Amino acid sequence: MTDTELAVVGAGLMGAATAWAATRRGRSVTVLEQYPFGHDRGSSHGSARIVRRAYPDPLYVRLTGRAMRLWRELEFDSGRTLVRLTGGLDHGLGRDPAGIAAVLRQARVLHELLPATEAERRWPGMRFTGPVLFHPEAGTVDADAAVAAFLRTAAKRGAELRPETAVVALEPKEDRVVLRTAEGELTARRAVVAAGAWAAPLLGGLVELPRLTVTQQQVFHFPRHDPHASPWPVTIHQDALSVYSLPGGRDGGPHDARKIAEHDRGRPTTARDRDGIVDPASRERITRYVAEWLPGLDPRPFNEATCLYTTTPTEDFVLDRLGPLVVCSPCSGHGAKFAALIGELATDLATDAGRPEPRFTLAAHLGRADDSLRS
Ligand SMILES: Cc1cc2nc3c(=O)[nH]c(=O)nc-3n(C[C@H](O)[C@H](O)[C@H](O)COP(=O)(O)OP(=O)(O)OC[C@H]3O[C@@H](n4cnc5c(N)ncnc54)[C@H](O)[C@@H]3O)c2cc1C
Repeated sequence: MTDTELAVVGAGLMGAATAWAATRRGRSVTVLEQYPFGHDRGSSHGSARIVRRAYPDPLYVRLTGRAMRLWRELEFDSGRTLVRLTGGLDHGLGRDPAGIAAVLRQARVLHELLPATEAERRWPGMRFTGPVLFHPEAGTVDADAAVAAFLRTAAKRGAELRPETAVVALEPKEDRVVLRTAEGELTARRAVVAAGAWAAPLLGGLVELPRLTVTQQQVFHFPRHDPHASPWPVTIHQDALSVYSLPGGRDGGPHDARKIAEHDRGRPTTARDRDGIVDPASRERITRYVAEWLPGLDPRPFNEATCLYTTTPTEDFVLDRLGPLVVCSPCSGHGAKFAALIGELATDLATDAGRPEPRFTLAAHLGRADDSLRS
């Protein structure tokens, strides 16, 4: 006897997306989230994440295309606008805009390679040195609103939502899994564990995971000098620093105030020990960066926040099934844009409707040649 067909542990972007995808296929779903829905202690809070097609890796370019279509389906399903296209820029000595342009050309994704002078003409207030890649199919997704939309539409189709219900242990049996909570047990045919930075403590001893490094990251919001200037594209700039920038939405203040952060250099921590204190050295680096590269911004941060990355050594996602457990860890600081697709892929694995992406399997992450880890 099972209480539910599919238990989803965690209601960040990935768990919430899985609930949406599985209920769209008529599955019975229970979502267990240790904190109130929409909390800010994990990786999915805030009003903006970058969505983009430009990756140096054809696999991710292909997946972004599928994800973009599914975001539009979620918008249609929920009646909310979630994705706003601004276009995207890639530049800097460490970024190889021409190489990414070649990958986009191969994937038939519209793009332009511009000299720095032309980019500065088009986007006054931004500075460039080398070639700049522009592609129009990029922008932001509202992360808070997306989590809410996934959960609301899943609940409409019958998902049972249990906020403030921590899963304290998982006990896989052959054809089902028992989930223990303070309120009692739940038995499910499958459990998708989308526990973000809590994945390793919860799955330790049950699943051999790759090294998952949890870091506390910080983001800063800077207002435009001219709040009525045209919005800039989202930007990936890899040079002395690896920096991303995007319109920050509600968190950033009015108009096109920018959310800006370092992709790397987070402080290693754990979900339990993170302190939520912004690293002053990062604030200093980003403030100097803004003064040098983005003279169209007021270089005094208007607002700041912390967030957790859970990163694999290759920055590839983990998405695989082991017995009744689906391990779903798509972060490494770039998972949000794929969430609408990850829900589908996790549901495929939970319902035996599809096989894992070979690069995302536990075996691939652990350097095993085959998929012998999976049953
Ligand atoms: C600062 C920052 C900026 C980012 N920017 C971008 C970007 O621009 N573009 C992009 O594509 N990606 C971006 N990302 C990455 C993206 O946000 C993450 O990939 C995504 O949010 C991961 O979602 P998740 O559901 O795996 O994790 P989480 O959001 O952390 O969700 C996990 C959930 O599981 C719950 N949970 C854990 N253990 C238990 C338990 N035992 N019982 C019940 N519940 C449990 C947690 O409370 C949590 O709610 C960024 C991430 C950060 C931190």
